[in-house]
Amino acid sequence: MSECILEGRGLTRRYRRPDGRTLTACHRVGLQLFPGETLGVVGESGCGKSTLVRMLAQLERPDEGELLFRGEEITGLKGEALRRYRPHVQMVFQDPAGAFFPRMRVWDAVTEPLRNFQPLSRAQRREQAARLLERVELPADFLDRYPHSMSGGQRQRLGIARALALEPEVLLCDEATSALDVSTQAQLVELLVSLQKKQNLSILFVCHDLALVQSLSHRMIVMYLGTVVESLPSAHLAADALHPYTRALLEAVFSLHTPPDKAVAPLSGEVPSPIHRPRGCPFHTRCPHCMEHCAQEEPPTISVAPGHTVACHLYSGTSRSEGE
Ligand code: SF4
Repeated sequence: MSECILEGRGLTRRYRRPDGRTLTACHRVGLQLFPGETLGVVGESGCGKSTLVRMLAQLERPDEGELLFRGEEITGLKGEALRRYRPHVQMVFQDPAGAFFPRMRVWDAVTEPLRNFQPLSRAQRREQAARLLERVELPADFLDRYPHSMSGGQRQRLGIARALALEPEVLLCDEATSALDVSTQAQLVELLVSLQKKQNLSILFVCHDLALVQSLSHRMIVMYLGTVVESLPSAHLAADALHPYTRALLEAVFSLHTPPDKAVAPLSGEVPSPIHRPRGCPFHTRCPHCMEHCAQEEPPTISVAPGHTVACHLYSGTSRSEGE
């Protein structure tokens, strides 16, 4: 496989709460993103997906772990070095309505990132804005509109256009389609796939919709309570997923072909609080296969097949730990 473009190793992020307690949003998260691929990140609300994205975008610093871009460590970048990193990795935010300053017209909003990196005249920025709108299939006569006069799908296209303004190699999409209706979601996904093919973009696509992530991504990681519990090629998800949490997510997916009388087996047990992370396996309070030592020992991440890892004691004897 080609050189990894963005890599996280053991990324951990904790927040100190006003009451003195500590919330662990991400716990030793590792991932690799390769050129031209889409890596899906899936998990329930509150599982640490957005915190992970913010660390990758260098909007937050990890408390532990390392970030690498094209093999070079970038974890502690500051000042000018951090500014030079920013154009390479750009974000598309979840809320297209809140992502733009309401008094900026479209041409100004979409080229706002250029102000920090290229001294362009107003006319040059308008030209650049028109090119960006064309890339996301928005008409040029939107240039003088305000974002609030556009539909949710159009605003999200605008968000993608703004993220593309600096010609990034990596797009971090944090629940970028979650606020949209299903048909608009599908159009946005088509646009992302087409942009990826044209520009060899690497995309990290974060979403709680397992079916959507699976359809869009080449590989995916599954997070639970701030931890990556499984990673595997998306095409193998339904047949090969092993972790009891991934299997439970798959069981809960509805489709047009789901028989109306199909029994849905929701996970029982409480979702633990990230303020009180359980010892051992983070999933042991809800796992139907929980064994005695699951509550004591954190399962190592095991490689079970090429490109497929799982963190579960059920498979601890099947192969080697990652990093061995
Ligand atoms: Fe379930 Fe134990 Fe595996 Fe955790 S380690 S998922 S509790 S079997």
